[in-house]
Amino acid sequence: MGSGNAIRGSRVGAGPMGEAERGEAAPRVRVSFWCANMHETRPSFASDAPVPEFWDCPRCGLPAGQDQSSPPAPPRNEPYKTHLAYVKERRSDKDGAQILAEALERLRSSSRPIY
Ligand SMILES: [Zn+2]
Repeated sequence: MGSGNAIRGSRVGAGPMGEAERGEAAPRVRVSFWCANMHETRPSFASDAPVPEFWDCPRCGLPAGQDQSSPPAPPRNEPYKTHLAYVKERRSDKDGAQILAEALERLRSSSRPIY
């Protein structure tokens, strides 16, 4: 029976912690956003960070703005356009699949697995 494991486990104890805990005192501001469904969201931002003009409503996903009286309009659904985009996507997907298949074929013929 040998005992060559003496070195293992010699590093006991964690390194110095707390470096990340600092900087907690950065001031934050809360900004209210309203979506078209009148959901109010109040995310907080670091006071020195720019506040975005729009915010995604976490409840319905619509864009929310800071002006309660005129929230941003929900994005319109255009089925025809979406369908066209879908077809286009499919086509390029097919091309991509073909390229991938060819690449795989080349790979397979150049480096055959050994059984
Ligand atoms: Zn909403």
